Amino acid sequence: MNDYLGIDQRLCTGCKTCALACSFNYFGVFNPEKAYIKVIRHEEAGTFDIVIKNGCIPCKICEESCPTKALIFIQREEE
Ligand code: SF4
Ligand code: SF4
Repeated sequence: MNDYLGIDQRLCTGCKTCALACSFNYFGVFNPEKAYIKVIRHEEAGTFDIVIKNGCIPCKICEESCPTKALIFIQREEE
């Protein structure tokens, strides 16, 4: 089984707390640009999505820091 990180777009407010938590934990700074998770705004829809960068473990720190519980780890069967 592999876990991967997904997002419930209905719950995400774009606050970037997840990215701040990741960057602080791994780089010692509150800088969302350094995080392994990137929050992207879809301008027309007004919704947010995430991109996970190379280097993500995944450790679940971002999931635990999300105030709206928008992040979810999904279990995927090995192929
Ligand atoms: S799972 Fe861990 S390493 Fe990956 S983006 Fe979230 S906080 Fe960063
Ligand atoms: S996933 Fe959660 S912590 Fe990250 S931007 Fe969306 S609401 Fe904020």
